[in-house]
Amino acid sequence: MSTANIPLNNSSPPAPLLAPSTRHAPHTPHAPHAHAVQFYEEDTALLDNITRTIGAALGSGGAGIVIATEAHRVALAGRLSSLGIDLALARRQGRYVALDAADTLDQFMVDSHPDPERFRTVIGDVITRATRATGFSNPSVAAFGEMVALLWADSNPTAAIELERLWNAIALTHHFSLLCGYSLSTFGDDRHDEAFRLVCAEHSHVIPAETYTALLTEDERHRAISLLQHKAELLNQTRRTIQQQEDRLRKTEKLAAAGQLAASLAHEINNPLSSVINVLYLLKNAGLDPTTHALVETADSELARVARIVRQSLSYYRIGTVPRELDLSTVVDESISIYREKAARTCIHLSSRITPALRIVGFGDELRQVIDNLLLNAIEATPQNGRIIISLHPARRWSTLQPGVRLTIADTGSGIPRTHLARIFEPFFTTKAEKGTGLGLWVVSGIVAKHDGHINVRTSEHPARHGTVITIFFPSTLPTR
Ligand code: ADP
Ligand code: MG
Repeated sequence: MSTANIPLNNSSPPAPLLAPSTRHAPHTPHAPHAHAVQFYEEDTALLDNITRTIGAALGSGGAGIVIATEAHRVALAGRLSSLGIDLALARRQGRYVALDAADTLDQFMVDSHPDPERFRTVIGDVITRATRATGFSNPSVAAFGEMVALLWADSNPTAAIELERLWNAIALTHHFSLLCGYSLSTFGDDRHDEAFRLVCAEHSHVIPAETYTALLTEDERHRAISLLQHKAELLNQTRRTIQQQEDRLRKTEKLAAAGQLAASLAHEINNPLSSVINVLYLLKNAGLDPTTHALVETADSELARVARIVRQSLSYYRIGTVPRELDLSTVVDESISIYREKAARTCIHLSSRITPALRIVGFGDELRQVIDNLLLNAIEATPQNGRIIISLHPARRWSTLQPGVRLTIADTGSGIPRTHLARIFEPFFTTKAEKGTGLGLWVVSGIVAKHDGHINVRTSEHPARHGTVITIFFPSTLPTR
């Protein structure tokens, strides 16, 4: 549609109302149906445009139909009168019709939707009568409606769009131009994004809010558009960040739930487990025959594994331990001495480079669990004749230069497939079937976080240089909480 009889900007002041003195067609030519939507920030901007639109129609001897809130009707009447338009006369003539938006809606709304038949009867009648009142065969008839805006403000955008479509349908049989007004503030909801597009699609003209239309030069408008595009991009980025944070929060909640479950199960298992271990201890020393003794040994070592799982699960939720200054070098050495024999049994060469007497503030038992878990994983992943190197040195966090220590456990094991890497810190993720619990690294990550530390994993499955290097930075002191 190329033309419309709605003045879309403030370039043409309305002619004062003259009672139609001739019976010829009015001087404003009737354009094909124009259905414009104006978005506005302040009422003044909307009222300015309705005044021009309705004023121009009345001034040309045509008709003006206003279906608006009382506040807008009153303000508009004042503005039209101050332009010299004899509104009382136009009203008496039936060329100026001012209706209340809510009351008019009530006449055709059924179950929160506009009823097409009723709409046609009610609105069709209003347009026909106002058109006839002009006495012209093809007069300029301008309408302003904000029933759609009321529906929108009433959280019923679906009905608003249905109503916009009914206005378009009635325009096929009645000649008028229509201006709709929507306050921008009613579009503050993210979910209305698509509905906003649909509203625009139902209109032949879209008039942006006054902060844009008030700009005079093309250059000013280009700058305004660039600024808006920049703001839209910022908004998109903020949206993405919020989404990521929500995802992270959901994951944390899941972890907390899994941890609680594991801890409560472990708690329940712990007591009977201790009893059974004691019973086995007594049995082993009760002078059993060698076969039974071997069976009891097997049961004992399996139960030791269960005890380890229980300890891991409980540890994550153990609260109330007080951090203290400790010698991490000794903790690492103790752990190595325990696992050295296990490594030797599978012919794995275990070596260490430990700076002695490195002191940090932390939770000794839990730091020990970190090293135990990492060492055990390295041993389990490393084939015969493989190598494991553990090192512990003073260091600074790369990003902040915060002082601390860096623990590295490097193995020449299988390496971790890319698809697993993202999951190894999840609870119950294991590739060791019934031999694994999938809790080790999850516990490790919890303890490292508790120490405000940082874990880094580098791994390769390359046939010639496979292996995994896990590096953990622990700050020397815990942050004050
Ligand atoms: P688990 O040892 O009980 O399987 P963890 O949480 O300790 O559970 O480890 C999870 C998984 O991470 C392991 O099953 C294994 O697939 C992988 N993984 C951990 N450490 C290593 C390593 N050093 N080399 C190869 N894979 C490893
Ligand atoms: Mg493990």
